Amino acid sequence: MVEKFIEYYKPHKWLFLLDMAAATLVAASDLIFPQITKKFINELIPGRDIDMIMKLGIAMLVLYVIRFFMDYIVGFYGHLLGVKMEYAMRKDMFSHLQKLSFRYYDDTKTGHIMSRLVNDLNEIAELAHHGPEDLFISFLMIVGSFVLLARVDLPLTLIIFSIVPFLMGFAIIYNSRMRNNFRKIRVSLSEINAGLEDSISGIRVVKSFTNEWFEEEKFDKGNDNFMGLRTESVRQLGIFSGGIHFFSNILNLAALVFGGYFVYLGRIDLGDMVAFVIYMSLMLQPVRRLSNFIEQFQKGMAGFRRFVEVMAVKPEIIDSEDAVELKDVKGHVEFRNVGFSYNNKEEVLSGINLDVPVGQTIALVGPSGVGKTTLCSLIPRFYETDSGSIMIDGKDIKNVTIESLRANIGMVQQDVFLFSGTIYDNISYGKLDATYEDVVVAAKRANAYDFIMDTPDGFMTYIGERGVKLSGGQKQRLSIARMFLKNPPILILDEATSSLDNQSEAVIQKSIEELARDRTTFIIAHRLATIRSSERIIVLTNEGITEDGTHEELLAMKGEYFKLYNTQLL
Ligand code: ADP
Ligand code: MG
Repeated sequence: MVEKFIEYYKPHKWLFLLDMAAATLVAASDLIFPQITKKFINELIPGRDIDMIMKLGIAMLVLYVIRFFMDYIVGFYGHLLGVKMEYAMRKDMFSHLQKLSFRYYDDTKTGHIMSRLVNDLNEIAELAHHGPEDLFISFLMIVGSFVLLARVDLPLTLIIFSIVPFLMGFAIIYNSRMRNNFRKIRVSLSEINAGLEDSISGIRVVKSFTNEWFEEEKFDKGNDNFMGLRTESVRQLGIFSGGIHFFSNILNLAALVFGGYFVYLGRIDLGDMVAFVIYMSLMLQPVRRLSNFIEQFQKGMAGFRRFVEVMAVKPEIIDSEDAVELKDVKGHVEFRNVGFSYNNKEEVLSGINLDVPVGQTIALVGPSGVGKTTLCSLIPRFYETDSGSIMIDGKDIKNVTIESLRANIGMVQQDVFLFSGTIYDNISYGKLDATYEDVVVAAKRANAYDFIMDTPDGFMTYIGERGVKLSGGQKQRLSIARMFLKNPPILILDEATSSLDNQSEAVIQKSIEELARDRTTFIIAHRLATIRSSERIIVLTNEGITEDGTHEELLAMKGEYFKLYNTQLL
């Protein structure tokens, strides 16, 4: 864990060393001041050495100017170090997330990924910067003061320093209480966020059921909880800052009283006593830093652990070592004894054999939940087959690069996903280097051109989050236009028209037929019109592929298709 953390420091080791060097000088300048004061009181003032007073004064002024720059370095370059590490981790994590497989996303909540990418990395950056620096400066300050004072009078130093552990203990205990509370606040906040996301993205459902009051009650519950925790947190903060000043004042007082007594005993002189008092008043700073460090360390490391956890997830589906490019694809797709399950327990598909010649359009029918979508998602390797193999033009898909495989397969789904952006952005997503003319041609072929021209800004119209400003049919036409641009030899249409009304369906059906021409096409559909016009129909049931033929042939068999035809399809 810690080694992995240190890995991220490596590229910035000079920045780190600069930060540490500056931090050392900052601590040193704090340690020097009491020594100078002592010299003033013991020698220069009684000796009326004005010349030396001026010289030392100027020397100290120069030192403080230097310290100003050192503070700047710690403040700026130290933070920059944290910022750079955070940047690198966020970049690595996002890039890693892009590689992870569908199975990972099936099991992971978006909100969790977001909080890792945003909050956790922030905590890590804070630790990366403040951690070593706080630890180092505190150590220098505490040990430095102890050594300097012990040289003056060891017993007095021991007496006064015996109070430091109380101050430290108090700070640590309260810090950890506040930390516990802070953790609860974070959980509560993330619950509020999750609820908020749900409510807002479901606002259309909320309003249509007039359940606003219900949403408000749910929200209030979270908000009340949050308020309670925050109240507790500021109460603790009050005790903490009061307590820590109290202990620190006791420390000062002890230096004054015991120091005074030791002056009375003649063991130390006045200058020494003043030095004791000043050192003790400086003690608050390292104690705060240390207790901060302990807190930051826990938060940062917890965040880093979650970061490492995500980074440790292996992309399940990757190129094999000797993967070759899949080139000049004709579109012959073959399933050879394919078996698959999502959870290694219940098999969704087993013993699937299917040979689809180049350019054929086949319709996949069967009851809901038998695995039609699953079967199709195996072709672009969204999931990996457990047994058997899938061949494209006679090449096993496991032996070709994923990029070239997916470049040759297009998928149009029922719930179209559009990015917030313009119509143009969404169509050209199918081929990022397409020209404007290409996009227009694709839109025309998808029967989308006319409605696009009717929108306020044409291709430059913003479609809202997930395309909320468009109708279902319009969204589907954009996704078909996107596919015309991509122009893959193998096409999968997964209930692409199921959620549309008859009129939109009729329009889209035409573009789909146009899209399917000259490509090997898998159509999962409910509508009889779509199915009947396919050259070949496959019936998938829990027993696997049970029927295979044309509409007339299957009807004549009076089997599953016949049943579906008489019930569900009509
Ligand atoms: P169909 O498309 O024929 O309606 P699916 O292929 O979507 O059926 O689903 C087949 C079976 O696999 C169902 O029992 C479904 O619950 C399950 N399933 C589908 N997707 C997943 C997934 N991502 N993770 C786990 N199980 C899934
Ligand atoms: Mg399905």
